[in-house]
Amino acid sequence: MIPYGKHHIDEDDVQAVAAALRSGWLTTGPAVGEFEADLSQFVGANHGVAVCNGTAALHCTTMMLDLEPGDEVIVPPMTFAATANAVAYRGATPVFADVRREDLLIDPIAVEAAITDRTRAIIGVDYAGQPCDWDALQSIARAHDLTLIDDAAHALGALYKGRPIGTCADMTTFSFHPVKHITTGEGGMIVTDDPASAERLRTLRNHGITADFRTRAETGSWIYEIDELGENYRITDFQCALGSSQLRKLPAWLERRGEIAARYDAAFAESSDVRSLAVSPDVVHAYHLYVIELAQGIDRSAVFAAMRASGIGVNVHYVPVHFHPFYRRAFGTGEGLCPVAERAYEGLLTLPMYPDLSDAEVDTVIEVLQGAIARS
Ligand SMILES: *Cc1c(COP(=O)(O)O)cnc(C)c1O
Repeated sequence: MIPYGKHHIDEDDVQAVAAALRSGWLTTGPAVGEFEADLSQFVGANHGVAVCNGTAALHCTTMMLDLEPGDEVIVPPMTFAATANAVAYRGATPVFADVRREDLLIDPIAVEAAITDRTRAIIGVDYAGQPCDWDALQSIARAHDLTLIDDAAHALGALYKGRPIGTCADMTTFSFHPVKHITTGEGGMIVTDDPASAERLRTLRNHGITADFRTRAETGSWIYEIDELGENYRITDFQCALGSSQLRKLPAWLERRGEIAARYDAAFAESSDVRSLAVSPDVVHAYHLYVIELAQGIDRSAVFAAMRASGIGVNVHYVPVHFHPFYRRAFGTGEGLCPVAERAYEGLLTLPMYPDLSDAEVDTVIEVLQGAIARS
């Protein structure tokens, strides 16, 4: 079976985790700060706050906004539900702004149209690994005094107009789930340039406590205070040791992802059945996913089933978030809210994409796809 995504663990990753386990620290020790420094430096941000998963990272950003019921945050429908869930956790309302036809990224025109006097923030998602139009989103955010958040779970290592993803919004979140670019098993991080935001994020991941155990141990004080309601979103030291070890391999992995994408692009360039998503000349794409859209009239379910039966682990990213029963019930969403995303969804298919995928396997995926389309 060729899966759609797959992590890669080397012996030096195993050694890094073993060394962390032998260090005497299990949680919130030196490896956490090292990974925060390593990753924030890689993405060009001043501060990183590591947490237990990417969803927790997103939730921390909506805690930072002090959202209240009635407040609105603009999100795209073409994402993993965690993006919108982070708004719903606060009892606030996710407002779905449709995506652009060519690349399925949030459409700045739809964002502008969705703004009301209750709008507090915009969360852009660098879908599949391609950066959103951050300049356009930035100018909308400035004009309306909104916080700009980048859900960059797909886009570690991507560039927008030469600037790394991690520097294009007020806060940027990453995920280190095994299917993402690098893994800590489960893990996430928020990066920001603002020192006060970083400090508050550190307390929010630790119950809202203003000094962590290590600081208290060092100062010999038993005093701690809960300044506001936080969560326990801490990540362990051995996970962060794995993260730093994985990060060293990321540049080579990004390069390989780009090569695989180029091979798929070339195969589908002349096809009338398969459309690859458009890539802006302004970006370096991180290719978390390689997404195609099948032409209208091709039975996506049949192609999906035929490929799975042939051992190709295709997937669909994503069921539009506003189609989920929870969103329909809680926010009255449904068909017609985001017609571009909804129409694209009918034909979407995610092909295998991960650094260990060989050229021969890519060619097999292409052949099996073409055969499945011909028979559908
Ligand atoms: C993976 C993902 C998340 C959530 O990350 P977890 O680490 O699985 O909690 C959030 N947003 C997007 C777009 C993702 O792909």
